[in-house]
Amino acid sequence: MNKVFTYKCTDYKDASIGSYLKQIIDDSFPGEVFNNKTVFVKPNLLTRRNPEQAVTTHPVLVKEVCLCFIKKGAKVIIGDSPGGPNSISWLKSVYKATGMTWAAKESGAELNYDLTPSNQSFEIKNSYKELQVLKAVVDSDYLINLPKCKTHGLTVFTGGPKNLYGCIPGLLKAKYHLELADLENFCGLIISLNELLKPNLTVMDAIIGMEGEGPSSGTPKYLGYIIGSKNPYLVDTIAAQMIGLKPLDIPVLKLAHELGIFSLTDDSIIHVGHTKKEVVPFKMPVATKYADFSDRFAKRVPQKLLSRIYKWLKPVLVFSEEKCTSCKLCIESCPASALKMYNKKPKVNVKECIYCYCCQELCPKSAVSVKKPALARWLFYH
Ligand code: SF4
Ligand code: SF4
Repeated sequence: MNKVFTYKCTDYKDASIGSYLKQIIDDSFPGEVFNNKTVFVKPNLLTRRNPEQAVTTHPVLVKEVCLCFIKKGAKVIIGDSPGGPNSISWLKSVYKATGMTWAAKESGAELNYDLTPSNQSFEIKNSYKELQVLKAVVDSDYLINLPKCKTHGLTVFTGGPKNLYGCIPGLLKAKYHLELADLENFCGLIISLNELLKPNLTVMDAIIGMEGEGPSSGTPKYLGYIIGSKNPYLVDTIAAQMIGLKPLDIPVLKLAHELGIFSLTDDSIIHVGHTKKEVVPFKMPVATKYADFSDRFAKRVPQKLLSRIYKWLKPVLVFSEEKCTSCKLCIESCPASALKMYNKKPKVNVKECIYCYCCQELCPKSAVSVKKPALARWLFYH
Protein backbone atom coordinates (compact mmCIF):
# COMPACT_ATOMS: atom_id res chain seq x y z
CA MET A 1 0.00 0.00 0.00
CA ASN A 2 2.97 2.36 0.46
CA LYS A 3 4.57 2.23 -2.94
CA VAL A 4 4.16 5.13 -5.34
CA PHE A 5 5.26 5.38 -8.95
CA THR A 6 6.01 8.70 -10.65
CA TYR A 7 6.99 8.74 -14.32
CA LYS A 8 7.86 11.79 -16.36
CA CYS A 9 6.12 12.08 -19.73
CA THR A 10 6.72 14.83 -22.28
CA ASP A 11 3.13 14.77 -23.56
CA TYR A 12 0.37 12.32 -24.55
CA LYS A 13 2.40 11.25 -27.60
CA ASP A 14 5.29 10.11 -25.40
CA ALA A 15 6.17 6.60 -26.63
CA SER A 16 7.05 5.53 -23.07
CA ILE A 17 3.55 5.99 -21.59
CA GLY A 18 2.54 2.39 -22.38
CA SER A 19 5.67 0.90 -20.82
CA TYR A 20 5.40 3.09 -17.70
CA LEU A 21 1.81 1.98 -17.18
CA LYS A 22 2.80 -1.65 -17.75
CA GLN A 23 5.50 -1.32 -15.07
CA ILE A 24 3.00 0.13 -12.60
CA ILE A 25 0.44 -2.61 -13.32
CA ASP A 26 2.96 -5.51 -13.35
CA ASP A 27 4.46 -4.33 -10.07
CA SER A 28 1.06 -3.81 -8.44
CA PHE A 29 -0.29 -7.27 -9.37
CA PRO A 30 2.75 -9.60 -9.38
CA GLY A 31 1.86 -13.04 -10.74
CA GLU A 32 -1.87 -12.33 -10.58
CA VAL A 33 -4.03 -14.27 -13.07
CA PHE A 34 -6.70 -12.18 -14.80
CA ASN A 35 -8.32 -14.87 -16.98
CA ASN A 36 -12.13 -14.72 -16.61
CA LYS A 37 -11.83 -11.65 -14.39
CA THR A 38 -13.63 -8.37 -15.03
CA VAL A 39 -11.68 -5.13 -14.66
CA PHE A 40 -13.68 -1.89 -14.39
CA VAL A 41 -11.61 1.10 -15.53
CA LYS A 42 -12.93 4.35 -14.08
CA PRO A 43 -11.56 7.54 -15.69
CA ASN A 44 -12.72 11.02 -14.67
CA LEU A 45 -15.46 11.78 -17.24
CA LEU A 46 -16.98 14.73 -15.45
CA THR A 47 -18.90 15.97 -18.45
CA ARG A 48 -18.90 16.19 -22.25
CA ARG A 49 -15.51 17.80 -23.00
CA ASN A 50 -12.71 17.14 -25.48
CA PRO A 51 -9.41 15.73 -24.15
CA GLU A 52 -7.62 19.02 -25.02
CA GLN A 53 -9.73 20.87 -22.45
CA ALA A 54 -8.03 18.84 -19.66
CA VAL A 55 -11.28 18.26 -17.79
CA THR A 56 -11.29 14.48 -18.29
CA THR A 57 -8.70 11.70 -18.10
CA HIS A 58 -6.84 11.55 -21.40
CA PRO A 59 -7.93 8.66 -23.66
CA VAL A 60 -4.33 7.61 -24.39
CA LEU A 61 -3.84 6.64 -20.72
CA VAL A 62 -7.19 4.86 -20.63
CA LYS A 63 -6.37 2.91 -23.79
CA GLU A 64 -2.93 1.84 -22.52
CA VAL A 65 -4.29 0.72 -19.14
CA CYS A 66 -7.03 -1.29 -20.86
CA LEU A 67 -4.50 -2.92 -23.20
CA CYS A 68 -2.35 -4.03 -20.24
CA PHE A 69 -5.25 -5.84 -18.58
CA ILE A 70 -6.62 -7.27 -21.83
CA LYS A 71 -3.17 -8.74 -22.55
CA LYS A 72 -3.34 -10.36 -19.11
CA GLY A 73 -6.59 -12.08 -20.13
CA ALA A 74 -9.12 -9.82 -18.39
CA LYS A 75 -12.42 -8.57 -19.71
CA VAL A 76 -12.15 -4.77 -19.41
CA ILE A 77 -15.02 -2.31 -19.05
CA ILE A 78 -14.55 1.47 -19.24
CA GLY A 79 -17.22 3.37 -17.36
CA ASP A 80 -18.29 6.39 -15.35
CA SER A 81 -21.48 8.16 -14.43
CA PRO A 82 -20.86 11.74 -15.56
CA GLY A 83 -22.81 14.69 -14.23
CA GLY A 84 -25.92 15.65 -16.15
CA PRO A 85 -28.88 13.59 -17.36
CA ASN A 86 -28.96 9.94 -16.35
CA SER A 87 -29.48 8.66 -19.90
CA ILE A 88 -27.77 6.35 -22.37
CA SER A 89 -27.72 9.04 -25.09
CA TRP A 90 -25.91 11.49 -22.76
CA LEU A 91 -23.44 8.78 -21.75
CA LYS A 92 -22.80 7.97 -25.43
CA SER A 93 -22.10 11.61 -26.23
CA VAL A 94 -19.75 11.93 -23.20
CA TYR A 95 -17.85 8.76 -24.23
CA LYS A 96 -17.49 10.09 -27.77
CA ALA A 97 -16.38 13.62 -26.87
CA THR A 98 -13.88 12.49 -24.20
CA GLY A 99 -12.23 9.93 -26.50
CA MET A 100 -13.47 6.87 -24.59
CA THR A 101 -15.18 5.44 -27.68
CA TRP A 102 -11.78 5.63 -29.38
CA ALA A 103 -9.95 4.14 -26.34
CA ALA A 104 -12.40 1.21 -26.21
CA LYS A 105 -12.12 0.54 -29.95
CA GLU A 106 -8.30 0.70 -29.96
CA SER A 107 -7.87 -1.55 -26.92
CA GLY A 108 -10.77 -4.00 -27.26
CA ALA A 109 -12.44 -2.86 -24.02
CA GLU A 110 -16.20 -2.45 -23.63
CA LEU A 111 -18.03 0.74 -22.67
CA ASN A 112 -20.43 0.53 -19.76
CA TYR A 113 -24.02 1.63 -20.37
CA ASP A 114 -25.54 -0.02 -17.30
CA LEU A 115 -26.44 2.74 -14.82
CA THR A 116 -28.34 0.43 -12.45
CA PRO A 117 -27.71 1.38 -8.81
CA SER A 118 -26.76 -1.17 -6.19
CA ASN A 119 -27.57 -0.54 -2.52
CA GLN A 120 -24.51 -1.14 -0.34
CA SER A 121 -24.48 -1.16 3.47
CA PHE A 122 -21.30 -0.94 5.50
CA GLU A 123 -19.79 0.15 8.78
CA ILE A 124 -17.21 2.92 8.77
CA LYS A 125 -16.39 5.23 11.63
CA ASN A 126 -18.09 8.68 11.35
CA SER A 127 -19.62 8.05 7.97
CA TYR A 128 -22.58 7.04 5.85
CA LYS A 129 -23.91 3.54 6.54
CA GLU A 130 -25.55 2.98 3.17
CA LEU A 131 -24.71 4.14 -0.34
CA GLN A 132 -26.02 3.55 -3.82
CA VAL A 133 -23.28 2.92 -6.35
CA LEU A 134 -23.06 1.58 -9.90
CA LYS A 135 -23.87 -2.14 -9.91
CA ALA A 136 -21.41 -2.63 -12.79
CA VAL A 137 -18.57 -1.49 -10.50
CA VAL A 138 -19.68 -3.70 -7.59
CA ASP A 139 -20.00 -6.72 -9.92
CA SER A 140 -16.45 -6.33 -11.28
CA ASP A 141 -13.47 -8.19 -9.82
CA TYR A 142 -11.10 -5.20 -10.02
CA LEU A 143 -11.55 -1.43 -9.97
CA ILE A 144 -8.86 0.67 -11.63
CA ASN A 145 -9.18 4.33 -10.75
CA LEU A 146 -7.86 6.84 -13.34
CA PRO A 147 -8.30 10.39 -11.98
CA LYS A 148 -7.19 13.68 -13.53
CA CYS A 149 -5.02 16.13 -11.58
CA LYS A 150 -7.23 19.22 -11.08
CA THR A 151 -8.05 21.97 -8.63
CA HIS A 152 -11.63 21.96 -7.30
CA GLY A 153 -13.82 24.83 -6.08
CA LEU A 154 -15.43 22.76 -3.33
CA THR A 155 -12.81 20.18 -2.30
CA VAL A 156 -9.66 22.23 -3.20
CA PHE A 157 -8.24 19.32 -5.23
CA THR A 158 -9.76 16.41 -7.11
CA GLY A 159 -7.69 13.30 -7.65
CA GLY A 160 -7.84 9.64 -6.62
CA PRO A 161 -10.38 9.48 -3.75
CA LYS A 162 -12.73 12.11 -5.24
CA ASN A 163 -12.81 10.37 -8.66
CA LEU A 164 -14.90 7.57 -7.15
CA TYR A 165 -17.79 10.02 -6.70
CA GLY A 166 -18.56 9.18 -10.34
CA CYS A 167 -19.43 5.63 -9.22
CA ILE A 168 -22.65 7.07 -7.80
CA PRO A 169 -25.25 6.78 -10.57
CA GLY A 170 -26.66 9.88 -12.28
CA LEU A 171 -28.73 12.33 -10.28
CA LEU A 172 -28.15 10.47 -7.00
CA LYS A 173 -24.93 12.51 -6.90
CA ALA A 174 -27.04 15.67 -6.60
CA LYS A 175 -29.05 14.09 -3.76
CA TYR A 176 -25.89 13.33 -1.78
CA HIS A 177 -24.56 16.84 -2.47
CA LEU A 178 -27.71 18.31 -0.97
CA GLU A 179 -27.76 16.00 2.05
CA LEU A 180 -24.08 16.60 2.71
CA ALA A 181 -23.78 20.33 1.97
CA ASP A 182 -21.18 20.65 4.75
CA LEU A 183 -17.69 20.06 3.31
CA GLU A 184 -16.51 17.74 6.08
CA ASN A 185 -19.56 15.50 5.66
CA PHE A 186 -19.07 15.48 1.91
CA CYS A 187 -15.43 14.44 2.39
CA GLY A 188 -16.68 11.72 4.75
CA LEU A 189 -18.80 10.40 1.90
CA ILE A 190 -15.78 10.36 -0.43
CA ILE A 191 -13.79 8.40 2.15
CA SER A 192 -16.71 5.98 2.65
CA LEU A 193 -16.87 5.37 -1.09
CA ASN A 194 -13.18 4.53 -1.16
CA GLU A 195 -13.50 2.20 1.82
CA LEU A 196 -16.49 0.52 0.19
CA LEU A 197 -15.18 0.16 -3.36
CA LYS A 198 -11.49 -0.26 -2.46
CA PRO A 199 -9.89 0.62 -5.82
CA ASN A 200 -7.18 -1.94 -6.62
CA LEU A 201 -4.99 0.65 -8.31
CA THR A 202 -5.06 4.41 -8.88
CA VAL A 203 -3.15 6.02 -11.74
CA MET A 204 -3.43 9.79 -12.10
CA ASP A 205 -3.23 11.64 -15.38
CA ALA A 206 -1.01 14.51 -14.25
CA ILE A 207 0.58 15.10 -17.65
CA ILE A 208 -1.69 18.07 -18.30
CA GLY A 209 -3.82 18.96 -15.29
CA MET A 210 -6.12 21.89 -14.58
CA GLU A 211 -5.48 24.97 -12.44
CA GLY A 212 -7.73 27.84 -11.40
CA GLU A 213 -11.46 27.33 -11.66
CA GLY A 214 -11.35 23.53 -11.70
CA PRO A 215 -12.69 20.98 -12.09
CA SER A 216 -14.09 22.15 -15.45
CA SER A 217 -13.70 25.91 -16.00
CA GLY A 218 -10.02 26.29 -15.17
CA THR A 219 -6.95 26.42 -17.40
CA PRO A 220 -4.99 23.39 -18.63
CA LYS A 221 -1.58 23.29 -16.94
CA TYR A 222 1.39 21.14 -17.88
CA LEU A 223 2.85 19.05 -15.08
CA GLY A 224 4.29 16.16 -17.09
CA TYR A 225 3.73 13.13 -14.84
CA ILE A 226 1.72 9.98 -14.32
CA ILE A 227 1.42 8.98 -10.68
CA GLY A 228 0.36 5.48 -9.62
CA SER A 229 -0.21 3.64 -6.36
CA LYS A 230 -2.53 1.08 -4.82
CA ASN A 231 -3.31 3.81 -2.29
CA PRO A 232 -5.45 6.64 -3.77
CA TYR A 233 -4.59 9.00 -0.85
CA LEU A 234 -0.89 8.56 -1.55
CA VAL A 235 -1.41 9.50 -5.21
CA ASP A 236 -3.10 12.75 -4.13
CA THR A 237 -0.39 13.48 -1.57
CA ILE A 238 2.34 13.27 -4.20
CA ALA A 239 0.32 15.29 -6.73
CA ALA A 240 -0.41 17.95 -4.09
CA GLN A 241 3.30 18.34 -3.35
CA MET A 242 4.04 18.65 -7.06
CA ILE A 243 1.56 21.50 -7.52
CA GLY A 244 2.54 23.44 -4.40
CA LEU A 245 -0.29 22.41 -2.07
CA LYS A 246 0.17 21.16 1.47
CA PRO A 247 -1.56 17.73 1.67
CA LEU A 248 -3.23 18.77 4.94
CA ASP A 249 -4.88 21.68 3.09
CA ILE A 250 -6.84 19.14 1.04
CA PRO A 251 -9.95 18.38 3.12
CA VAL A 252 -10.27 14.73 2.00
CA LEU A 253 -6.64 13.96 2.89
CA LYS A 254 -6.95 15.84 6.19
CA LEU A 255 -10.06 13.88 7.19
CA ALA A 256 -8.59 10.53 6.08
CA HIS A 257 -5.53 11.37 8.18
CA GLU A 258 -7.66 12.29 11.21
CA LEU A 259 -9.73 9.10 10.87
CA GLY A 260 -6.55 7.01 10.78
CA ILE A 261 -7.33 5.72 7.28
CA PHE A 262 -4.20 7.24 5.80
CA SER A 263 -1.08 8.59 7.48
CA LEU A 264 0.49 11.76 6.13
CA THR A 265 3.53 11.21 8.30
CA ASP A 266 4.29 7.68 7.10
CA ASP A 267 8.00 7.47 6.37
CA SER A 268 7.86 3.93 4.93
CA ILE A 269 6.75 5.15 1.48
CA ILE A 270 8.72 3.61 -1.37
CA HIS A 271 9.19 5.87 -4.42
CA VAL A 272 9.72 4.26 -7.82
CA GLY A 273 10.46 6.07 -11.09
CA HIS A 274 11.52 9.65 -11.72
CA THR A 275 11.73 12.13 -8.86
CA LYS A 276 10.24 15.55 -9.42
CA LYS A 277 12.35 18.20 -7.78
CA GLU A 278 10.77 21.49 -8.86
CA VAL A 279 7.25 22.46 -7.79
CA VAL A 280 4.82 23.70 -10.47
CA PRO A 281 2.41 25.91 -8.48
CA PHE A 282 -1.23 25.61 -9.58
CA LYS A 283 -3.56 28.61 -9.17
CA MET A 284 -6.41 27.84 -6.78
CA PRO A 285 -10.13 28.43 -7.45
CA VAL A 286 -11.67 31.60 -6.01
CA ALA A 287 -14.11 29.55 -3.91
CA THR A 288 -11.37 27.71 -1.99
CA LYS A 289 -9.89 30.98 -0.75
CA TYR A 290 -13.29 31.84 0.68
CA ALA A 291 -13.63 28.40 2.34
CA ASP A 292 -10.17 28.73 3.83
CA PHE A 293 -11.00 32.17 5.22
CA SER A 294 -14.29 30.87 6.69
CA ASP A 295 -12.50 27.99 8.35
CA ARG A 296 -9.81 30.17 9.94
CA PHE A 297 -12.05 32.97 11.12
CA ALA A 298 -15.14 31.02 12.18
CA LYS A 299 -13.47 30.09 15.44
CA ARG A 300 -12.44 33.66 16.35
CA VAL A 301 -15.34 35.91 15.36
CA PRO A 302 -18.73 36.16 17.16
CA GLN A 303 -21.49 34.32 15.28
CA LYS A 304 -23.62 37.42 14.50
CA LEU A 305 -20.74 39.36 13.03
CA LEU A 306 -19.59 36.25 11.19
CA SER A 307 -22.85 35.86 9.26
CA ARG A 308 -22.61 39.52 8.12
CA ILE A 309 -19.02 39.09 7.03
CA TYR A 310 -19.99 35.93 5.15
CA LYS A 311 -22.65 37.88 3.26
CA TRP A 312 -20.06 40.39 2.02
CA LEU A 313 -17.52 37.71 1.21
CA LYS A 314 -19.61 34.99 -0.37
CA PRO A 315 -18.51 34.20 -3.90
CA VAL A 316 -21.02 35.26 -6.51
CA LEU A 317 -22.09 32.91 -9.28
CA VAL A 318 -22.21 34.75 -12.58
CA PHE A 319 -23.93 33.30 -15.65
CA SER A 320 -22.55 34.73 -18.89
CA GLU A 321 -25.39 35.73 -21.20
CA GLU A 322 -23.04 35.57 -24.17
CA LYS A 323 -21.74 32.07 -23.55
CA CYS A 324 -24.96 30.50 -22.21
CA THR A 325 -26.91 28.51 -24.80
CA SER A 326 -29.92 27.95 -22.48
CA CYS A 327 -29.34 24.18 -22.49
CA LYS A 328 -30.68 23.94 -18.89
CA LEU A 329 -28.07 21.36 -17.86
CA CYS A 330 -27.16 23.43 -14.80
CA ILE A 331 -30.82 23.75 -13.80
CA GLU A 332 -31.46 20.02 -14.14
CA SER A 333 -28.31 19.21 -12.12
CA CYS A 334 -28.64 21.74 -9.28
CA PRO A 335 -29.11 19.63 -6.12
CA ALA A 336 -30.75 22.49 -4.20
CA SER A 337 -33.12 23.52 -7.02
CA ALA A 338 -31.64 26.99 -6.60
CA LEU A 339 -31.64 27.80 -10.32
CA LYS A 340 -34.55 28.95 -12.45
CA MET A 341 -34.81 30.21 -16.03
CA TYR A 342 -35.57 33.95 -16.45
CA ASN A 343 -35.63 35.29 -19.99
CA LYS A 344 -34.07 32.01 -21.14
CA LYS A 345 -31.03 32.40 -18.86
CA PRO A 346 -30.37 30.76 -15.46
CA LYS A 347 -30.67 32.85 -12.33
CA VAL A 348 -29.60 31.71 -8.88
CA ASN A 349 -31.59 32.07 -5.69
CA VAL A 350 -28.73 32.72 -3.26
CA LYS A 351 -30.83 31.74 -0.25
CA GLU A 352 -31.24 28.22 -1.65
CA CYS A 353 -27.73 27.80 -3.07
CA ILE A 354 -25.48 25.38 -1.15
CA TYR A 355 -22.33 26.44 -3.08
CA CYS A 356 -21.55 22.98 -4.38
CA TYR A 357 -20.47 24.46 -7.77
CA CYS A 358 -22.11 21.62 -9.73
CA CYS A 359 -23.52 24.23 -12.15
CA GLN A 360 -20.03 25.52 -12.88
CA GLU A 361 -18.67 21.97 -13.12
CA LEU A 362 -21.23 20.81 -15.63
CA CYS A 363 -21.82 23.81 -17.87
CA PRO A 364 -20.62 22.70 -21.32
CA LYS A 365 -19.95 26.31 -22.38
CA SER A 366 -17.99 27.47 -19.31
CA ALA A 367 -20.71 30.09 -18.91
CA VAL A 368 -20.67 29.93 -15.10
CA SER A 369 -17.94 31.73 -13.24
CA VAL A 370 -17.30 32.48 -9.61
CA LYS A 371 -16.60 36.15 -8.90
CA LYS A 372 -15.06 37.66 -5.80
CA PRO A 373 -16.90 40.44 -3.98
CA ALA A 374 -14.84 43.62 -3.41
CA LEU A 375 -14.06 42.84 0.25
CA ALA A 376 -12.89 39.33 -0.63
CA ARG A 377 -10.70 40.74 -3.40
CA TRP A 378 -9.11 43.13 -0.96
CA LEU A 379 -8.61 40.47 1.72
CA PHE A 380 -7.28 37.71 -0.48
CA TYR A 381 -5.52 39.41 -3.34
CA HIS A 382 -4.18 42.82 -2.36
S1 SF4 B 1 -25.25 28.23 -17.90
FE1 SF4 B 1 -24.36 26.53 -19.04
S2 SF4 B 1 -25.42 24.71 -18.33
FE2 SF4 B 1 -26.64 26.48 -17.68
S3 SF4 B 1 -28.13 26.78 -19.31
FE3 SF4 B 1 -26.40 28.08 -19.81
S4 SF4 B 1 -25.08 26.83 -21.14
FE4 SF4 B 1 -26.53 25.43 -20.14
S1 SF4 C 1 -26.78 27.12 -7.99
FE1 SF4 C 1 -24.92 26.00 -8.51
S2 SF4 C 1 -23.63 26.18 -6.67
FE2 SF4 C 1 -25.73 26.71 -6.06
S3 SF4 C 1 -26.60 24.79 -5.32
FE3 SF4 C 1 -27.14 24.96 -7.49
S4 SF4 C 1 -25.54 23.84 -8.56
FE4 SF4 C 1 -24.78 24.23 -6.47
